[in-house]
Amino acid sequence: NQSEEKLTEYLDELEFLAYTAGASVDKRFTQRLTKPDSKTFIGSGKAQEIRDYVKENEIGTVIFDDELSPSQLKNLEKEIEVKILDRTNLILDIFAQRAQTSYARTQVELAQYEYLLPRLTRMWTHLERQQGGIGMRGPGETEIETDRRIIRDRISLLKDKLKTIDRQMATQRNNRGKMVRVALVGYTNVGKSTLMNALSKSDVFAEDKLFATLDTTVRKVVIGNLPFLLTDTVGFIRKLPTQLVESFKSTLDEVREADLLIHVVDISHESFEDHINSVNQTLMEIEAHQKPMIMVFNKIDAFAYEKKSDDDLSPETRKNISLEEWMKTWMSKSKYPTVFISALKKENFPELKKMIYDEVLKIHISRFPYND
Ligand code: GDP
Repeated sequence: NQSEEKLTEYLDELEFLAYTAGASVDKRFTQRLTKPDSKTFIGSGKAQEIRDYVKENEIGTVIFDDELSPSQLKNLEKEIEVKILDRTNLILDIFAQRAQTSYARTQVELAQYEYLLPRLTRMWTHLERQQGGIGMRGPGETEIETDRRIIRDRISLLKDKLKTIDRQMATQRNNRGKMVRVALVGYTNVGKSTLMNALSKSDVFAEDKLFATLDTTVRKVVIGNLPFLLTDTVGFIRKLPTQLVESFKSTLDEVREADLLIHVVDISHESFEDHINSVNQTLMEIEAHQKPMIMVFNKIDAFAYEKKSDDDLSPETRKNISLEEWMKTWMSKSKYPTVFISALKKENFPELKKMIYDEVLKIHISRFPYND
């Protein structure tokens, strides 16, 4: 069943995120509901089952693949009696661990406070109800009020700080002058940094974890006689917390202001078509979807083709489609120049470079219509 497969993939990704954050996953629980329970997200029977398991096996944390509402989080913590994380919180945590520059750290801190603020509020309404409206002027309220005020002050301070850095970065981008700007975009972990290194012979951090790159790196690259600027951007991911989309505005500005996008896809990943859609969705949100683009299907060396038997022709499963068939499908389907490479083994690099050269040259020419 196809949605069963999707579910497994989503949980694979969540497990990978958890691993990136430094956790190891012990067990998975799933439940089919027509819609999430408004109070506890999952049904009470399932919550019970998880609680028993957590107790028995001394599990420290339970992670949910969706963003939980403040009250769902609170109720679940009461019911399961263990620390609960949702997808947003997990991603924020990874970003916090990986932020290198003061800019990235400021962005993550802002996103974390914005995530926290409504959760503090709800905690208080919950308390209010418990106290039945009597004696509400106790220290509890003052404390939470103070916390909230401190957080709000901190949020506006961080926003000011970001505005200042944004302005500096905009100036920096302007100072880069007339050089054509190319941005690598793609789902997280598809090989953007590896490709950046291979093209610019630089040493950008590449690691088999999600979001190895949080800050943008810009390198000057020359292909043939054509120089251009190549930017590596933060990886996109399904259900990226809205707080982060907003706060990584300046990182995304690199994409928004690029002349050419190189959309890198990990063709060895089972869900690569979902990843393409996710990335296109984000590009649409930041209004960068009409830019010239090159589709780069990476990791052809890792592509596994598992035809179950000779007469097994069911085209539904990706495992039954060979790389050649994928290539044909995508070449004919894609309205963009398309190339299949291995960034790791530098396979098909001449083809890739020619493609980039041609596109960059087109942009050059369009800028200087009177030069011949
Ligand atoms: P990014 O998050 O998109 O920047 O991805 P990275 O460049 O950090 O790469 C993520 C992982 O994929 C690393 O372990 C890389 O070594 C690996 N990788 C990158 N390109 C290839 C490739 O062409 N083939 C294979 N097999 N692995 C690759």
